[in-house]
Amino acid sequence: MVVVMGSTATEEQIQAVVDLVEEAGGETFISRGKNRTIVGLLGDTERFMALPLPGMPGVDQVIRVGKPYKLVAAESRETPSVVHVGNTTIGRDTFCVIAGPCAIETEDQAMTAARAAKAAGAHVLRGDAYKHRTSPYAFQGLARRGLEILAQMRAETGLPVVTEVLQTSDVEVVASYADIIRIGARNMQNFQLLREVGRTHRPVMLKRGLSATIEEWLMAAEYIAQQGNEDIILCERGIRTFEPMTRNTLDVSAVPIVHNLSHLPIIIDPSHSSGKRELVAPLALAAAAVGADGVMIDIHPHPETALCDGPQALTSEELPPLVAEMSLVAQAVGRSMARTSRGLSAVGE
Ligand code: PEP
Ligand code: MN
Repeated sequence: MVVVMGSTATEEQIQAVVDLVEEAGGETFISRGKNRTIVGLLGDTERFMALPLPGMPGVDQVIRVGKPYKLVAAESRETPSVVHVGNTTIGRDTFCVIAGPCAIETEDQAMTAARAAKAAGAHVLRGDAYKHRTSPYAFQGLARRGLEILAQMRAETGLPVVTEVLQTSDVEVVASYADIIRIGARNMQNFQLLREVGRTHRPVMLKRGLSATIEEWLMAAEYIAQQGNEDIILCERGIRTFEPMTRNTLDVSAVPIVHNLSHLPIIIDPSHSSGKRELVAPLALAAAAVGADGVMIDIHPHPETALCDGPQALTSEELPPLVAEMSLVAQAVGRSMARTSRGLSAVGE
């Protein structure tokens, strides 16, 4: 349930609502917008319904959130949320381009890809040190050395970085290198990991599980938000269907559905959803057209020798024209490209 306070509500009136709810055994969270403050209630809704909340001074509306997730529900915020990363933002009316290698393989490969992403106009870099591979014999990532190279990518380009964390014991070290911590599709329902990243102060990118419904995905986001971290970016990366022509089936309808149900930004990964280089550009343009808050694209200096996901990686030359086209499509649907970073403060500040 959420209590919407009127634009003239005083701090004392907000506090009176909080006190009443807490006396009834509930917990509250407060979201302050420009024109109104929302007090979210967590606990026994039936009990809250019996409280005299609607008549209290300063209270504008009491809305029952009839959804299993509360903190990430659209009703709990006045406007869509915006995640700040470095000097750029993800969400609301901008379009963010994240690009970089799927896996950090060598310093040379990663730095070449990072420079190409920056030159193409990307706002955020991707690069993984820890890889979730279907086969235990496949390249598993450079681990700590990969994080060091990631730090170099960040330092040289001045762009913020996103990288995946696979297990709870690595959250602290990954958070010390990453501007955005990514939870991969296979870990979407690793609830302990979700809680752990929820306790960090880093934005979290949450990929949709291979066979997860949108509601299950939002429930997973709620685990992160419940720990006090609401800087969450959802990433649609395709779902399992009967269709073998693509690696996964990109669910573009997830974008407007999520925008309707939740205040969280949602981006699309056209690389992992299609698994095919020739499909990346059309799907990235579809992402911009459907109103996504951005895209995350794999690039590789030499896709034919890539240790991970080469068939879906764009070359350095293929990215710039695609960024220009995405910019045109984004503008056509009322978005501008996100701001480019002008430099970063140290991670950990
Ligand atoms: C990735 O982005 O590198 C990745 C492994 O994707 P997913 O978790 O969506 O499979
Ligand atoms: Mn990959």
